[in-house]
Amino acid sequence: MPQTDWLFFRTALLDWYEPERRPMPWKGEPDPYRVWLSEIILQQTRVAQGLPYFERFVAAYPTVTDLAGADDDAVLKLWEGLGYYSRARNLLRAARTVANDLDGHFPDTYTGLKALPGVGPYTAAAIASFAFGRQVAVLDGNVYRVIARFAGDEAPTDGSSGRKHFQQAVDQAMGDTHAADFNQAIMDFGALVCTPRNAACPSCPLAKQCKARAKGTVYDLPVKKKSITKRSRYFHYLVIKDTKGSFLLQQRTTKDIWQSLYEFPLIEADTTDLRLRQLMESEAWPTWLEPNRITEGKRSLVYRQQLSHQTILAVFHQIEWRAPTKLPDRFVRIDRAAHSAYALPRVINRYLEDGTLTLDL
Ligand code: SF4
Repeated sequence: MPQTDWLFFRTALLDWYEPERRPMPWKGEPDPYRVWLSEIILQQTRVAQGLPYFERFVAAYPTVTDLAGADDDAVLKLWEGLGYYSRARNLLRAARTVANDLDGHFPDTYTGLKALPGVGPYTAAAIASFAFGRQVAVLDGNVYRVIARFAGDEAPTDGSSGRKHFQQAVDQAMGDTHAADFNQAIMDFGALVCTPRNAACPSCPLAKQCKARAKGTVYDLPVKKKSITKRSRYFHYLVIKDTKGSFLLQQRTTKDIWQSLYEFPLIEADTTDLRLRQLMESEAWPTWLEPNRITEGKRSLVYRQQLSHQTILAVFHQIEWRAPTKLPDRFVRIDRAAHSAYALPRVINRYLEDGTLTLDL
C-alpha cells in the first residue's frame, strides 16, 4: 500500500482518537506492573468482564513483589471465572521472575518483556509502548481487522508468515507517530468502529480510502487459513459425601484444561448418557471407592461449559460414602465453610449454585 495511504490512515485515526478515547483505569498508566496485569487479564477477555478482576488484583497485590509472594491457590481463586487458567499460573511465574531475578523491575524492552512467562508478542509490544514509550506497534485481533480491511489485504492472518506480513503493514501504518497513542487508537477503533460484524462504515473517518469498503469485502476480511476444530468432552463428576458431611475435591494436575483448579473426582466418558451403575462397571471407576460402601444419590441434569476449542458436558452424581478414615492422596475433604476457598471450573460452580440440588454445601 502506498505510504500516502498510510499517512492518511494514521492522521485520520489519531484525529478520531482524541474525542473518542475510551476511559480505562490503566490508560496513561506508567507503572509497568499495572500495564502488564491489565494486558494479561484482557487477553481473551472483554474489558467489561476484566475490569473488576484488574481492580481486585491491584487491591490484593499492589506491587509485583506482593503478587510474587502470594499463595498459588489464593491467586487462582481470585482468577476464578476468567477462564484460560494458564494465564494465572504464568502471571505468578512472571511476577516471581521479576521480583526474584530482576530486583522487582520489569524489563523495559520488547525482547526482555517477551522472555517473561505468559508474555507473547502482543503483550510485550503493549507494555513496551505503554509503560516504556518504545516505538513498537501492537498486533491483536482488532489491529488485524482494521489493517486488513483498510488495505483490502486478503493475506491470511494466521501462522508466523501472517503475523510477519501484518506486523510490517502496521509498522508502516504507524510511521513515526507516538506508539502508545497509535496502539491505543487502533485497538479502540477496532473495538468501537470497525467491529467484526457491525462495522460503522457510513460514519467511518477512514471510509474514503478504505479498500474493503470500496470492494464490498468488509465482512470477508480478515482471512484465516485454518478453521479451528472443536470437540465435545463428557464429564461425570462424583459428588462424594462422607459420613462426616465432607465432600472430596482433587486438584487437576495433568496438562489439560483447568490445570491446578479443583474439582470433584472425575470419570471422563464418551457420552453423558450413563448411570452410576454403568460407571461402576467401567475401568475408570476409582478402586478406592468400593461399591459396597456407597449409596447412590441424585443424578443432575447435563451442565454445559463452552471453551474456545472444547464443549464440556458435565453430569454430577451424588454419592453417600461410608469412607475409610484414610483418604487417598491427592484428595482434600471440604466442608461447607471451606469450599469457597478453592478455585473451581465454572461448570462446577454453576452446579453448586443450582438451588434445585440438595448438596448441603
Ligand atoms: S470503512 Fe468500514 S471497513 Fe473500512 S475501516 Fe472504516 S469501518 Fe472498517
